[in-house]
Amino acid sequence: MTPAGAPTATVVGGGLAGCEAAWALAERGVRVRLVEMRPLRRTPAHQGERLAELVCSNSFKSIETSNAHGLLKAELRRLGSLLLPCADEAAVPAGAALAVDREVFSRLVEERIGAEPLITVERAEVTELPSPGVVATGPLTSQALTEALTRRLGGASLAFYDAIAPIVSRESLREERLYALSRYGKGGGDDYLNAPLDREEYGRFIGALVAADQHQGHEFDPVPYFEGCLPVEEMARRGPDTLRFGPMKPVGLADPRTGREPWAVVQLRREDRAGQMWNLVGFQTRLRIQEQQRVLRMIPGLEEVEFLRYGSIHRNTYLNAPLCLGEALAARDDSRLFFAGQMTGVEGYTESLATGRLAGLNLARILAGRPPTVPPPTTMLGAIYRYLREADPANFQPMNANWGLVDPLPDTVPAKGRGAPGKDGRRRMLVTRAEQDFGAWLATL
Ligand SMILES: Cc1cc2nc3c(=O)[nH]c(=O)nc-3n(C[C@H](O)[C@H](O)[C@H](O)COP(=O)(O)OP(=O)(O)OC[C@H]3O[C@@H](n4cnc5c(N)ncnc54)[C@H](O)[C@@H]3O)c2cc1C
Repeated sequence: MTPAGAPTATVVGGGLAGCEAAWALAERGVRVRLVEMRPLRRTPAHQGERLAELVCSNSFKSIETSNAHGLLKAELRRLGSLLLPCADEAAVPAGAALAVDREVFSRLVEERIGAEPLITVERAEVTELPSPGVVATGPLTSQALTEALTRRLGGASLAFYDAIAPIVSRESLREERLYALSRYGKGGGDDYLNAPLDREEYGRFIGALVAADQHQGHEFDPVPYFEGCLPVEEMARRGPDTLRFGPMKPVGLADPRTGREPWAVVQLRREDRAGQMWNLVGFQTRLRIQEQQRVLRMIPGLEEVEFLRYGSIHRNTYLNAPLCLGEALAARDDSRLFFAGQMTGVEGYTESLATGRLAGLNLARILAGRPPTVPPPTTMLGAIYRYLREADPANFQPMNANWGLVDPLPDTVPAKGRGAPGKDGRRRMLVTRAEQDFGAWLATL
């Protein structure tokens, strides 16, 4: 028996985010139409017709809370995730990671959803935006719905490919090798960090870049390279000086220590207000992760760099969230239309289901006459939401969970020198603070 007169909402997309959103709504007494287009319409990547299909790797990454992905999982468990307990039940041995038998995982999710009387699963392609509803149609959203999104949110709000440059942590940079300067001293004058390379260093770097091993994309992922956004290794292949006249151009960047422009420069642009995350400007890449580590650590000053996000280039339909969505990822002109999953500009399985969970919770709150809520940016989930809200729309790129997103520790905790807690100690303090703040936020729900 379902409660008579229960509010009704539509969730579009039976992937990771959509299933979490539907579950969160049903738990709060909302009747849900969960609409999935497979198998009537297929995506280029999904193989079957089950809900919550993992399209590629079978890993949800780390479960250790000292790892950003592990902390996000711990928060989601406290928030009552549907998918993570299914993943536990479907787990295969994978050390400190949560990896699953993908068939068992999808079957378990489908069984739980099927047994929930408030959720009805429909198989159809949705071509208009629902309200009240959650749109969670993922990186391979169908063409007709993409057109509806463009009509509603404007062409500038949608991207179809991500060309992601790596992001590194500031604390891992050898700053004595770098200098702060904007090209020709524009803007704040010292908005960028610059890693200068002399002629020999540049030659070695280009040689390694050209020879490095590249990720072989899937057949369905034939990313057309745009001239303005070529992978850095492809630019290097076009000629030894291409990068020196492109993203590694030293013009207007005289090193204040020598008064001369170096042979080439790698620029790092601040990614967050606290200055914890720095983006390697113009370094979108398809190199394998180990190759990114090896080759990019050849850049002077980046020898021991910690990567917060690796570069990639993929087919990916996603919204420019800071441009077109509100604080809790609802449409700016309709507080009852939420977006969730990879299409909001998060990157990864756990991040996608996390936004589904919160979208479902918030739509249920709105339907009950309560305001939406988001955890504070000292927690991993809250920090992801802050990124989606505050990132620069002009340079917006999808983001995975990482420590650079989280509020730094207060100044009273020394970063370096005597009495400083060290990297592990700082991490433990960040985790403890996140756990406390998440608990305090949960108590307000
Ligand atoms: C090829 C590929 C590989 C990836 N590999 C990984 C990986 O290994 N690890 C990782 O962490 N992340 C990976 N990602 C990124 C991301 O985590 C996954 O795409 C994840 O599945 C996103 O979850 P989601 O719920 O947002 O979308 P999805 O899981 O894709 O779910 C969206 C659902 O919406 C349906 N749909 C689309 N349009 C409509 C419509 N108009 N009407 C009704 N239904 C519709 C689709 O059929 C799909 O079932 C990958 C992405 C891609 C594209």
